[in-house]
Amino acid sequence: MSSPIKDIVILGGGTAGWLTAAVIAAEHCVQQRSEKSFSVTLLESPDVPTLGVGEGTWPSMRNTLKKIGVRETDFIRECDASFKQGTFFKSWRCGAGDTYAHPFTIPHRYQEANPALWWRETRPDADFAESVCPQASLLAGDLAPKDITTPEYAFNANYGYHLDAGKFAGFLRKHATTVLGVRHLSTRVISVNASPTGDIASLETDSLGAISGDLFIDCSGSRALLLGDHYGIDLVAQDHILFNDTALAVQLDYPDPQAPIASATLATAQSAGWIWNIGLPTRRGVGYVFSSHHVSVDHAEIAMRDYLGSLAPAEITKNLSPRQINFQPGYRAKFWHKNCVAIGMSAGFIEPLEASALVLVEKFAGFVAEELPSNRTVMDVIAKRFNRKFSQQWSSIIDFLKLHYAVSERQDSQYWKDHRLRTTQPESLRENLARWRHQAPWHHEAVNVDDLFPSASFQYVLYGMGFSTAVASTDRRSQNKSTDWAGRLFAESAAQQAKFQQSMPSNRALLDKVVEYGFQTL
Ligand SMILES: Cc1cc2nc3c(=O)[nH]c(=O)nc-3n(C[C@H](O)[C@H](O)[C@H](O)COP(=O)(O)OP(=O)(O)OC[C@H]3O[C@@H](n4cnc5c(N)ncnc54)[C@H](O)[C@@H]3O)c2cc1C
Repeated sequence: MSSPIKDIVILGGGTAGWLTAAVIAAEHCVQQRSEKSFSVTLLESPDVPTLGVGEGTWPSMRNTLKKIGVRETDFIRECDASFKQGTFFKSWRCGAGDTYAHPFTIPHRYQEANPALWWRETRPDADFAESVCPQASLLAGDLAPKDITTPEYAFNANYGYHLDAGKFAGFLRKHATTVLGVRHLSTRVISVNASPTGDIASLETDSLGAISGDLFIDCSGSRALLLGDHYGIDLVAQDHILFNDTALAVQLDYPDPQAPIASATLATAQSAGWIWNIGLPTRRGVGYVFSSHHVSVDHAEIAMRDYLGSLAPAEITKNLSPRQINFQPGYRAKFWHKNCVAIGMSAGFIEPLEASALVLVEKFAGFVAEELPSNRTVMDVIAKRFNRKFSQQWSSIIDFLKLHYAVSERQDSQYWKDHRLRTTQPESLRENLARWRHQAPWHHEAVNVDDLFPSASFQYVLYGMGFSTAVASTDRRSQNKSTDWAGRLFAESAAQQAKFQQSMPSNRALLDKVVEYGFQTL
């Protein structure tokens, strides 16, 4: 049981597989290559397609790309990437074209005092994000979060990316195999060979025999061949909380190739779900994700075509055939069992709202890379920690996603009414909603230092959706600040917005320049 962990085998070459391979190899292979004591092998079937969606990331992706040694210029050029500075929501509150933004940058002076209290007290009718966040003007104006002289991965306003998922997996594959020393085997896994201890000893393939290893990472997609099929670890269904289980997706050319590129994912609520609209430099990715229990696929397609009609003329949209993707919202009862860890769709998937999937891949892979057990003896305790930590993260993601629906006032369909039923809301969210009526979310929301969604994200969604927190004059958290301080906060935020408007290039202008010249760090 105390054998060293030195050969890692990853099953699956989608975004999860390649990202995981690159993160682990960057941490371990590069230093140890000369000793040849460590290996990462990725097996990928040539005839099982990857999911090929997943076009929005969190800002964490900048750090991940930097860590694996990728140049941002190359990434942007090769993955058709653009800058994502948050999500812009439409029709979520009342269903009548109402809007709000969830920017990636936390409110101005957020460390000093809780801006939500001062916003509520002094300017409750103004838009929350616009009042407190300088990034609001960048989102509204399709502007870039930096300029051509800003160093790679640095920023004036926090950002992640929109990208072409197919190109991204290929880009990571090239980098992982040519720079990081990952071995790539194109072969189909047909069975699992178990050792007497119950660990996986090797994976049997259809063309290359048995591939053995010390730790097996299941990135085989939603079927979860190792953790699910082999070990029988169940998917814990979450469709009683988050109902969406089907998506229709298309890729749409811009009618004008010089059309502005949006700085945010546009999320437009529909009667039984919502439509995403993601702007890449060369095309848009558009999809309707919905609950098949609340609307038929045919009706969903009608709604999506209606939406597409607002983006491009009929001669372009009429020939589009949406791709249907079904998924079962949920996550595994545990993610690491014996010597097998699931990462990506095999670990679980809920829905694309707030793009929480790839960021979890980054987090799972980062944990495995940084806390990699040196030998088999210590693996079970590390696995236990891993399972505890990420089960908790999944619960808090579910609470945050459900929040978007639970505070909606939409009355137009059963879907929205069902989202407001207490029985469909986790107890933890119900308790927080009751508390937030009296106390605005604040730094203590975080259970872990690396929680995915900071308290500022809860504020943007709550107050964007018109949620009301009563301001108590005795609220201790605001006592050390005055109305002068609040006035300064709003004035400085507005001044910074104006400055951004004047100084930042449009997304398209900057991306064109990056493609042509690369970032020009002074
Ligand atoms: C509608 C939708 C929208 C989404 N939008 C977002 C988003 O905006 N942001 C975000 O972060 N995430 C999003 N996601 C999630 C994101 O798409 C996935 O997290 C990401 O694509 C990773 O998938 P994967 O690599 O786990 O699985 P897959 O892409 O399915 O890859 C599975 C791999 O396993 C291999 N494989 C399977 N069986 C075998 C076998 N027997 N032998 C060998 N190899 C095998 C396949 O060949 C493939 O390489 C979205 C998901 C959906 C469904």
